[in-house]
Amino acid sequence: MTNQSACFTGLKCRECGKKYPAEVLYVCEYCFGPLEIDYDYERIASQLTRSVIQSRPLSMWRYRELLPVRRDPVAGFHTGFTPLVRAHQLEKRLGVREIWIKNDAVNYPTLSFKDRVVSVALTSAKEFGFDTVGCASTGNLANALAAQSAYAGLKSFILIPADLEEEKIIGSQIYGSTIIGVNGTYDQVNRLCGEIVGQYQWGFVNINLRPYYAEGSKTMGYEIAEQLGWRLPDHIIVPMAGGSLIAKIEKAFKELLCLQFVSEHPVKIHGAQAGGCSPIVNALKECTQFITPVRKPDTIVKSLAIGDPADGYYALQTIRKSGGYGENPTDEEVIDGIKFLAECEGIFAETAGGVVMGSALRLIDKGIITSKDSLVLCITGNGLKTKEAVTSRFKAPETISPSLKDFEKLLDRSSHLYTVGV
Ligand SMILES: *Cc1c(COP(=O)(O)O)cnc(C)c1O
Ligand SMILES: [Zn+2]
Repeated sequence: MTNQSACFTGLKCRECGKKYPAEVLYVCEYCFGPLEIDYDYERIASQLTRSVIQSRPLSMWRYRELLPVRRDPVAGFHTGFTPLVRAHQLEKRLGVREIWIKNDAVNYPTLSFKDRVVSVALTSAKEFGFDTVGCASTGNLANALAAQSAYAGLKSFILIPADLEEEKIIGSQIYGSTIIGVNGTYDQVNRLCGEIVGQYQWGFVNINLRPYYAEGSKTMGYEIAEQLGWRLPDHIIVPMAGGSLIAKIEKAFKELLCLQFVSEHPVKIHGAQAGGCSPIVNALKECTQFITPVRKPDTIVKSLAIGDPADGYYALQTIRKSGGYGENPTDEEVIDGIKFLAECEGIFAETAGGVVMGSALRLIDKGIITSKDSLVLCITGNGLKTKEAVTSRFKAPETISPSLKDFEKLLDRSSHLYTVGV
């Protein structure tokens, strides 16, 4: 990998196509469009085959030619290649032929899909010579950046809305990063980070390193196709915050097609947001191109609570082009979704996973996903980080003394709850 001729050639404006060298740039100076990584796909095709990929370690770096790095990665050696689990119980309960769960709730090291984007961003940060990195985060990115910057030996400043879940705050502080709670919404945190980047020579992963960072999301798409035996599903449901992941999954599928690693197959890409903050889904349902920002997000789904999504426009395009839909379940449906997924498949997802499950139920109900289809659910975060969302559903468990008699009394009392086999 060291000294390998780079397969990425620089940056390119998504709007006007103007090309830029591979530097710390993120907006086009002509049209203010976002910059994206540009690749030499012919060169990639001459170096990368499915068997080369399959001969490599089981991490996201098995697709490294399709990522914007020139030197060896500095983080994420165990990130990615999370399980793609066949969901037999869900298939039975919902009457759908094939359901798979892409389970980034167990991604290494911080149990969310954000470990993918941070692995790429920190590798770029090192290549550009930054000694300090940072981010604006709704929680999972904070965890991933804190842990991985500790591992990579970088200092970090992490700015979050002050009202995040305790697990996500402690789960960042533990790594020794500087964590700053901002009294405001994510959008206000993000704006502040933009100003910080203007003042200090730091690499903020989702601001001035954003073109590099965002490419890490593609690996979730590559893995899904590879783990399905190099094929694409009929449907995929993706949770949306800023709208980056969903657009990058589309890009990943397109690249695999272009490299002829998968054969042409239409995938309906559906987007999921929480009812209390669903600017992208609202625009979809209202059949408009314009995304009206949500000023005050009001939902338990804090990881997706971005009122003014940076990539909302591209997320809309992705969904519409694919023939997909959007859903925005209520907080009640989110909690039901978390429980349903846990009870059916033994997977405890965070609130964003409840949004995906709740959206799946709605799409199946509406006949948009039918019994003949194959479906992938993207579970992007771990339930232990948002347990306060579900604690209201449970009472403390019954307690007994350590005696068989007490145990039997309890069984008697609750015999209406259990069927005791003899
Ligand atoms: C960040 C995040 C997403 C998606 O984020 P985008 O900004 O749309 O790329 C999805 N799920 C979880 C749990 C997240 O933390
Ligand atoms: Zn431009």
